[in-house]
Amino acid sequence: MKYSSRLIEKAVENLSRLPGVGRKSAMRIVQFLLRQDPHVGEKIGQALIDLVQQTRYCRRCHNIADGPECDICADPRREVHQLCVVKSFYDIMFIEETGLFQGRYHVLGGVIAPMEGVGPHDLHIADLIRRVQEEQVQELIFALSPTDNEALTIEYIIQQMRRTLDRLPMVTTLSRGLNYHLDLEYADEMTLSLALKSRIPYPIES
Ligand SMILES: [Zn+2]
Repeated sequence: MKYSSRLIEKAVENLSRLPGVGRKSAMRIVQFLLRQDPHVGEKIGQALIDLVQQTRYCRRCHNIADGPECDICADPRREVHQLCVVKSFYDIMFIEETGLFQGRYHVLGGVIAPMEGVGPHDLHIADLIRRVQEEQVQELIFALSPTDNEALTIEYIIQQMRRTLDRLPMVTTLSRGLNYHLDLEYADEMTLSLALKSRIPYPIES
């Protein structure tokens, strides 16, 4: 044991598991918490317990939610005819930060990646197509990272929509002021805002 207290050692060990937090930062956090009113530490601890124990996936869009539906799906002010397709709930947080998008989202849970063994059935694609139909989506916006698998995923979804739907919605992608091979999380807010505003129609072969 390195410290005078097993509890300090345990806190440092656990905090340093967090991304971007090394042992030194963990020690600083512990020092900070011990110098604060105990309520500060309790609130932080409780927020983390609530986060991991009480969140679940939205039954509609697969975003993180506190109840059966996430706050975005449950918000009647959100535009239902625009649906933005993302890889993970994490991407939604970045788009929401821009405050520019008023539609709803659908989390795929990844992209089709045959080399990594990820097929269409591992993703929320069937749900997406059902939503496009039921919610009469007019624009389907793909906000995936620009890799080859993005194109593969979009093509697959278009093919599936053709089989199921009478009429395809307009399909767009974010404009590529975003650097190639860059995830949304690495785009600065200005670039992401521009990419959202100037969407590009996806070429659909007739
Ligand atoms: Zn939702």
